[in-house]
Amino acid sequence: MPGTFVHELDTPLYKGKISVNTGLFINGQFVDPIDKETIEVHNPTTGKLLTKVAVASAKDVDVAVKAARHAYKTVWGQKVPAYERGRLLNKLADLIEKHFDELTALEALDAGKPHSGAKWDIDATIHNFRYYAGWTDKNSGKTMEASIPIDETKFAYTRHEPIGVCGLIVPWNFPLLITSWKFAPALACGNSIILKPSEVTPLSALKLAELAHEAGFPPGVVNVLPGLGSVTGQAMSEHSGIGKISFTGSTLVGRKIMETAAKTNLKRVTLELGGKSPTIIFNDADLEQAVKWAIGGIFMHNGQVCAAGSRIFVQEGIYEEFLKHFVGASQSLTHGDNFDPSVFQGPLVSKGHMERVLSYIEAGKKEGATLLTGGARLEKDGYYIQPTIFTDVKPDMKIVKEEIFGPVAVVVKFKDEDDAIEQANNTVYGLSSNLFTSDISRALRVAHAIEAGSTYINQTGVPDFQVSFGGIKESGFGKDMGEHALEKQSMSTLAGNYEPDNQHIHYQHTMYL
Ligand code: NAD
Repeated sequence: MPGTFVHELDTPLYKGKISVNTGLFINGQFVDPIDKETIEVHNPTTGKLLTKVAVASAKDVDVAVKAARHAYKTVWGQKVPAYERGRLLNKLADLIEKHFDELTALEALDAGKPHSGAKWDIDATIHNFRYYAGWTDKNSGKTMEASIPIDETKFAYTRHEPIGVCGLIVPWNFPLLITSWKFAPALACGNSIILKPSEVTPLSALKLAELAHEAGFPPGVVNVLPGLGSVTGQAMSEHSGIGKISFTGSTLVGRKIMETAAKTNLKRVTLELGGKSPTIIFNDADLEQAVKWAIGGIFMHNGQVCAAGSRIFVQEGIYEEFLKHFVGASQSLTHGDNFDPSVFQGPLVSKGHMERVLSYIEAGKKEGATLLTGGARLEKDGYYIQPTIFTDVKPDMKIVKEEIFGPVAVVVKFKDEDDAIEQANNTVYGLSSNLFTSDISRALRVAHAIEAGSTYINQTGVPDFQVSFGGIKESGFGKDMGEHALEKQSMSTLAGNYEPDNQHIHYQHTMYL
């Protein structure tokens, strides 16, 4: 049965111990799952087993929802002042800071991230917790003069209220960071939460449960249920005690969650889904910068990034020059152990995912695209694939249409601004986009014409926790980060005294968004 995973590391970047409880975290304590099921967690750098972690069944989900609802009604929600919620979130940020090196090492080990990338994630996670800690007492409503005045004493106001219990379902590519995008605003608004990390990378979420407990969140407010998507995630989507699911993951699973919510208690959903983001490079761009950012945009974390710039459109005047430098730079990227400071690219997250990416590369070759570089697995233990670049692609090829979520770029030529916009928008996705030009008017014109939730100008997608992030089209709806994440986590109250005797106030509950 699950216990504690203890791992000693002696590397140039981390020397020391990692310890994580591998049970379910429900009502303030780690417990065994009712059905005693576990799942294996592997180190993608070596392919070896790291540990086994508990799997929450529908019965465990039910126990956690009851605990979360009870806590919400008795010791959390509107029972606790905003200041106290902020204090606890700041305390949790302090504890993450205290465990910074251990959490960085854990994320590198479990998700296959280069140590520098994992460090960036944990740093951003801390910022994110502090940012929402500051919002707890600033998420205010409005007071309005009544629009149909009966006498001058009448007024209406909106007031944010929490939803109750929120389910947070997250993927494996930025395990702790994406968790923080949901975890912090949900708690800031006074909701109790049930977090389901990805079955591929559950360890940092379990460590977070331990730290949240130490920070002093009352039992039942924070619950963490590792488990399979089809079991734990599905049970959360079906449960009528959960008022909202905030989901980040694939478009396929996002659709399922929305269907399930529609068939059960019509719980609210926010869906942060897949992408096939364009990077557009105009003739007047700084070529050196464009190459540098385009490399990071698709090969950082092996392209396992929702906003990865996987379709690169280059204007015809600089197309050949760009390709020469882009291919050269991709061939000089370093691969290997995540705890080696010189490594840029670690492994892909799992064997299954590596095989999926390789099958896309094969499809590209079969469909007649030109493979300029890469295209094969690296001769190493673990799940490494060479940075891969295709040209001579057609819009209906699988490698152009579908999200690969691997180190695979397609490079396409365009004539002018209209052509670039048309090609960039020729996708069902609308998550993110990047463009490079020295003409600010063009930059703004194109940014507004591109169908995507975010556009980065003269850089590729590095989100800022103060700025809302989320897609349109089949990349989903709702926002993580920034002020907008608070709106989707809370509800407002309209209070109008339209009663003839002016003695009563009617509360009318409405959704904020
Ligand atoms: P996934 O959809 O397979 O899984 C995501 C989460 O959903 C996991 O925790 C999984 O266990 C759970 N899940 C699976 N089936 C479920 C079901 N039937 N009901 C409820 N939950 C279920 O995605 P992944 O492979 O973990 O992550 C990669 C995907 O995530 C890519 O498509 C990527 O673009 C997307 N992503 C999007 C963003 C964003 O902000 N838009 C950020 C990161 C990743």
